[in-house]
Amino acid sequence: MNLCVLGAQWGDEGKGKIVDLLTPHFNVVARYQGGHNAGHTVYVGGRKFVLHLIPSGILHPGVICLIGNGVVVDPRALFAEVDELAGMGFDVRGRLFVSDKAHLILPYHRELDILSEARRGDRKIGTTSRGIGPAYEDKIGRRGVRVGDLRDTSADGPLVSAVRENVDARNRLVGNSEMKWQDVLADLRTAWVRLEPLVTDVSLYLSRAMASGQRVMFEGAQGTLLDIDHGTYPYVTSSNAIAGGACTGLGIGPKTIGAVLGVTKAYTTRVGEGPLPTELLGEMGERLRESGQEYGASTGRPRRCGWYDAVAVRYAVRINGLDALALTKLDVLDGIEALEICTGYRCGGEVLTEMPGDTAQLALCEPIYETMPGWSEPTRGVTRYSDLNANARAYVRRLEDVTGVPAAIVSTGSERDHTIIRDDSVAAAWFR
Ligand code: GDP
Repeated sequence: MNLCVLGAQWGDEGKGKIVDLLTPHFNVVARYQGGHNAGHTVYVGGRKFVLHLIPSGILHPGVICLIGNGVVVDPRALFAEVDELAGMGFDVRGRLFVSDKAHLILPYHRELDILSEARRGDRKIGTTSRGIGPAYEDKIGRRGVRVGDLRDTSADGPLVSAVRENVDARNRLVGNSEMKWQDVLADLRTAWVRLEPLVTDVSLYLSRAMASGQRVMFEGAQGTLLDIDHGTYPYVTSSNAIAGGACTGLGIGPKTIGAVLGVTKAYTTRVGEGPLPTELLGEMGERLRESGQEYGASTGRPRRCGWYDAVAVRYAVRINGLDALALTKLDVLDGIEALEICTGYRCGGEVLTEMPGDTAQLALCEPIYETMPGWSEPTRGVTRYSDLNANARAYVRRLEDVTGVPAAIVSTGSERDHTIIRDDSVAAAWFR
């Protein structure tokens, strides 16, 4: 069965580790949206790998990694990652392919990202300033440059016109002519030499792979609450991080997806601006940040931390059709006396049990908590569910009750083997 693995909160849920763990049971791992704003951290044998653009499946020799049309690709970032992997002994040749329909992030996109954030002032989104948003804007505005467009080597063809028009637009907007379209074009021509052997029709590749019985994992970046349509707009990313994004971002039919696994932490974090109903601003928030090492993998920014928000996760269950949860960072809660779970919101005299669609209303919501006892006996590194202490098991069980889906995988540390696979759950089938 194919499997889609995605973030069921505000991103940074630990998808990298879960994808890495499941990868040996799949032949192909395909990224379907986002860009190098993602930061998937994987620890293997004490070595740390942070992957931004390339699926974390690349750390498993023999697994094919695909970057779909829904991803925006900065060639410089891609090659930097390829080179870094090579330096660590991972050869991507013949294993990494990029869709010819993926849009390119060009130098002016990075610049426009920074300018747009500065213009927003207090209402800034908190982007990673890597040009992701402006690249998607050009895609939707039908003026973007796609990877496959670089095949055009003519001196006055569509590629030259597109680059010239886009750089002219940048110069008008910024108010100077410092950027020369000829330089941008020359960089793209240079990038194409390295990019060309990686380029493929990802949809066709997947269709043939699946027809021949290969198993595919679809890898989402960011998280459901950051989805451009279903997240806390406008404090969102510029692409569809939800399961539906796998169809549009790879060119596959919905029935090929199989199961959907949502990754959530055992608490909640968010980086950047926007509402976070369970945010803890005091000592407990600081404690979660420090023991969970909640600093952005891409930007180093401190993450905002809070209690588990079951309303938000229930929403993710609905929007993605989640079959199960992978619950990460349970160990971070070790030693906390009492834990709160948000099961509803209080808003303007009303009690809400469903996520409001209006972001301004969400910002006014107060969490309704129920309290669970914490535990002092460490869960860190535990690999069998029955070895978890009774309070930790009760906490996991309660999260399953309030979200309505089983926690098929429970992660108890950043290492690959610090993981509990529930034999009695749907996840067992993914490991066969
Ligand atoms: P992603 O973008 O969803 O892959 O998440 P990140 O990589 O940004 O953040 C997850 C961080 O948590 C990484 O540093 C992981 O190594 C770490 N991590 C994942 N699972 C666990 C866990 O169960 N316990 C602890 N302590 N850390 C974990």
